[in-house]
Amino acid sequence: MNHRVELRQVRKDFNGTAVLSGIDLGLAPGEFCVFIGPSGCGKSTLLRLIAGLEDLSGGEIRIDDRIVSHLPPAERDLAMVFQSYALYPHMSVHENMAFGLRHRKLGAVEIQRRVAEASRILHLEGLLQRKPRELSGGQRQRVAIGRAIVRQPKLFLFDEPLSNLDAALRVATRLEIAKLHRELGSASTVYVTHDQVEAMTLADRIVLLRPAADRGDAPSIAQVGTPLELYHRPANRFVAGFIGSPA
Ligand code: ADP
Ligand code: MG
Repeated sequence: MNHRVELRQVRKDFNGTAVLSGIDLGLAPGEFCVFIGPSGCGKSTLLRLIAGLEDLSGGEIRIDDRIVSHLPPAERDLAMVFQSYALYPHMSVHENMAFGLRHRKLGAVEIQRRVAEASRILHLEGLLQRKPRELSGGQRQRVAIGRAIVRQPKLFLFDEPLSNLDAALRVATRLEIAKLHRELGSASTVYVTHDQVEAMTLADRIVLLRPAADRGDAPSIAQVGTPLELYHRPANRFVAGFIGSPA
């Protein structure tokens, strides 16, 4: 079977202690997959392993059937959006979006075309000459998403992208991310959140991580399934308790 992302027996140790172990997971092209679970259970670490921002302690990661476990982030054909937007303060919106493309031997016309398209999708057309400090929080986060889109990756990784936004903007941006994912066709998305509403509304499939059951154990996957499967057929009491379903 062709997977966009495949994790096999992935393990991560920090200072000799496993913070994730035995993670097996396959993600289909075009799939929107949400990692959810209690704080500290390893959601961000798992995303960073896929991104190549952390080294594996065991197991293997494949993207489009290519082993990427030892490749740097830039060679994995993915783009990541963090909770803190990390825009370049001295560059305009346009420059922020175009910057990551300069290393890619793309012509000026192609760069211009991609920035224009991302600006249209994210409603940033009127803001291209502004500096980040002249933008609202929601606008800045859209620029950060735009910077990911222009790279046209096969895989988008989001780590709690909405948690710095106020409630109304969180809903609006969430809807934009859902729409964006549909518009981008076969690109897959892995989205980390601790917000169950985000998980339930965005996910094709949810991966629910659970903390270590005992000392000496490591966090692992409690259940993988559609939002409705986790809600109606929780695999165990941890899932039922976390999702809040009657079991
Ligand atoms: P989550 O995103 O689910 O809240 P994290 O992936 O951030 O969880 O953290 C998982 C565990 O790994 C936590 O116990 C955290 O303290 C630990 N951890 C994360 N990053 C590091 C690091 N760089 N060094 C040591 N421990 C870390
Ligand atoms: Mg986290």
